[in-house]
Amino acid sequence: MEKCLFCSIAAHEIPAEIQFENGEVVAFLDIRPKAPVHILIIPKKHIRSVADLTDEDCHLVLKLILTAKKLAEEKGIAEKGYRLVFNVGREGGQIVPHLHLHLLGGRNLAD
Ligand code: 5GP
Ligand code: ZN
Repeated sequence: MEKCLFCSIAAHEIPAEIQFENGEVVAFLDIRPKAPVHILIIPKKHIRSVADLTDEDCHLVLKLILTAKKLAEEKGIAEKGYRLVFNVGREGGQIVPHLHLHLLGGRNLAD
């Protein structure tokens, strides 16, 4: 099976500041935060991007979103609001080829 940087973080082979983990999902601080709260939520299973999702992954994607929601509450940004982002492919700004949901908050992100 394909293995990448985020697979290695999920396997605890590369250190990361893990905020949450269960059997399916890992959440860790982004190494170059773009907001006071910037957490990446990933499936443990290697899926390259949203472009590779299938109906079978519905449950997993919802788990990513619900993990982000829970972390937003824990970090105290749920009330003011936050942003959830999936970058997809090169022009979408996706650099790491392992599905990840960005949770961004703690400052005003609205233009
Ligand atoms: P992308 O641009 O692919 O949507 O987002 C990848 C994110 O991963 C970037 O925000 C980047 O700062 C973060 N990142 C890249 N390498 C590492 C790493 O080794 N550790 C952590 N914690 N974050 C990383
Ligand atoms: Zn991977």
